Amino acid sequence: MRRRIGIVGAGWTGAVTGRLLTDTGFAVEVLEKTSVVGGHSRAETMNGVVYEPNGAHIFHTDNEAVNKFVNAHGLTRPYDHKVLTEVFLSPDDDESHLLSWPPQVEELEELPVWPTVERELASLPPKPVGDNFEDYVVSMMGRTLYDLFIRDYTAKQWGRPATELSARFAPKRVELRRDGHRGLFRDRWQYFPPNGINEVIESVLSTVAVTLNTEVTVDDADRLGQDYDAVIITAALDDFARCPGELEWRGIEMRSRYEPTDDPGGVLTPAYVTNRPSTRVPYTRTVETKHATGQQIGGTVISEEMPGAPRRHYPVLTADGANERRNTELAQKIAEHFDIPVYFAGRLATYRYINQDEAIADAMAVADRVAAELGG
Ligand SMILES: Cc1cc2nc3c(=O)[nH]c(=O)nc-3n(C[C@H](O)[C@H](O)[C@H](O)COP(=O)(O)OP(=O)(O)OC[C@H]3O[C@@H](n4cnc5c(N)ncnc54)[C@H](O)[C@@H]3O)c2cc1C
Repeated sequence: MRRRIGIVGAGWTGAVTGRLLTDTGFAVEVLEKTSVVGGHSRAETMNGVVYEPNGAHIFHTDNEAVNKFVNAHGLTRPYDHKVLTEVFLSPDDDESHLLSWPPQVEELEELPVWPTVERELASLPPKPVGDNFEDYVVSMMGRTLYDLFIRDYTAKQWGRPATELSARFAPKRVELRRDGHRGLFRDRWQYFPPNGINEVIESVLSTVAVTLNTEVTVDDADRLGQDYDAVIITAALDDFARCPGELEWRGIEMRSRYEPTDDPGGVLTPAYVTNRPSTRVPYTRTVETKHATGQQIGGTVISEEMPGAPRRHYPVLTADGANERRNTELAQKIAEHFDIPVYFAGRLATYRYINQDEAIADAMAVADRVAAELGG
């Protein structure tokens, strides 16, 4: 008899594990609590305009297997993601500067603060140092650039000073560019599908049994044990274990509004993503997905990204690693409720700050493990 696998969640991770295990011969069922698939990456429409209710999602990868997989599901439209930052050089300035993110030395050289920045850059240590986010980033780019680009953005985004945050994710997120490369990413492949990512994830799930509107928690462990030979959980573990507050999360709310435009290709903000580090506005960035889709339609949707919403978007990686340890303990406790093997995968369940391509790679690794441990 075919081995049965239950998968909790139909985001990228659930979709890809579901597809790969179905292809390998398992009887798979994906259980999704909402009425739609796609998880955080999902796009929606407002008056016909594609926008992203969970924040800007740009697909980029350097992983050949992941690239081949998404290509096979229709994700092929090239895109080169460039981000701008609106910077006020002093608190009294009325005029802002629109600069590239990451900061580019050749743009900074044109600013009146350049002599100070240049002095600070000349006295940096050879390699970044420091355990907390602020110390690490100041040692990468100096105090002035840190204050202009990073300090207030980080405090708004995380609701706590950067000194309390781990330096671990700084290398992945922060850079000072000297080579003139303007794109945010350096990965070999970057895509943006014209209608958002939904069609791609739906293609992945096209041969997989999916049951929508079905929330599963640890209370269902006995039933899951009867229905399946193994379970893969991609849900947030404090939610799944019914102990909200056990893990710390940071969430955003996209305040999205429709605006008419004069011409079909019209856009109203400077870029798809414009960072707004200033404390003059409560949001961290504006997102206008139409820059990336290139949709020809007489309107656009602008979203202001408000930090601090009570949603599970970002794991909070503190310098002491306490939250990650709690997640590991929760995983152990959850597994003890089951008589069948339990696997944890994806961004929420493993409490990691990972991108879509990493979630897919995670899903591939878990599917391999399940196949090796349970057989087809
Ligand atoms: C604001 C923001 C911006 C991002 N920007 C980018 C970007 O630009 N590029 C990029 O590559 N990545 C980006 N990411 C990361 C990307 O969203 C994730 O890597 C990816 O969505 C992870 O997929 P997942 O399946 O692990 O999780 P999710 O997409 O969160 O999917 C989990 C699914 O499980 C369901 N679920 C949860 N609990 C239960 C339950 N108890 N029972 C049943 N179903 C349940 C949920 O409804 C959801 O459908 C961003 C993330 C955020 C939050």
